[in-house]
Amino acid sequence: MHQIFRHEVEWNGWPDGTFERMFTYAEVEAMQGLQVHWAMRRHGGDRKGDNFAKSVEGGKKSKWSCLGIIECDNPDCQIVIRPQTWPEQIENQLKQLCTCATSLHHLECGVFSILIRWSGGVKFSNHGQHAHQRPAHILHLSKDEKSRFKEIVTAHPTIGPLGLIVGVPGLHGPGESVADISDALLNAGRVGKERLKVKHGSDSGGGDSFISSFAKFS
Ligand SMILES: [Zn+2]
Ligand SMILES: [Zn+2]
Repeated sequence: MHQIFRHEVEWNGWPDGTFERMFTYAEVEAMQGLQVHWAMRRHGGDRKGDNFAKSVEGGKKSKWSCLGIIECDNPDCQIVIRPQTWPEQIENQLKQLCTCATSLHHLECGVFSILIRWSGGVKFSNHGQHAHQRPAHILHLSKDEKSRFKEIVTAHPTIGPLGLIVGVPGLHGPGESVADISDALLNAGRVGKERLKVKHGSDSGGGDSFISSFAKFS
């Protein structure tokens, strides 16, 4: 267990620079399927590889590329926008104006990651350094943040999203607010969705992780 937590700290969701690392499936699970916060697009997979290969060489390969960021032409504006996955979506994003009313442009990025799944785990390699800011609006919650959120929701099943943000009632007035857990939980719509996931017990880890269905392989 200690090892898993040590690795969990090392994986901050912003892989950067050129490196490679082998992960066991227990580690992949602890890191919520190698969750990543850069905006990434997956390329076609490898037809020959096998998830159950006995060696990493025979494993199934997938390639992911960073989509960079969208920013505006106003040098004083700090807004960084997360590109959507497909070119036509990005084109639509670029047709809009920034909230500062300036036009937007797409800053592309050449960084890519290669994942190889095999029976022993996942080999992850990262290629290149991101020469752009981190895209804003991190939509993910870490495993720890999720369990803190779940604790509050479970202890206060009748409190709605706004109440959870304002702070759940304690003995001496409002207590802990879910917004203290993460900025992602400042938004009532998001809190409502996360709350439903807790209530229905249907949080599968989301679709933003490299390995979203590790359970099948472990
Ligand atoms: Zn702007
Ligand atoms: Zn990048």
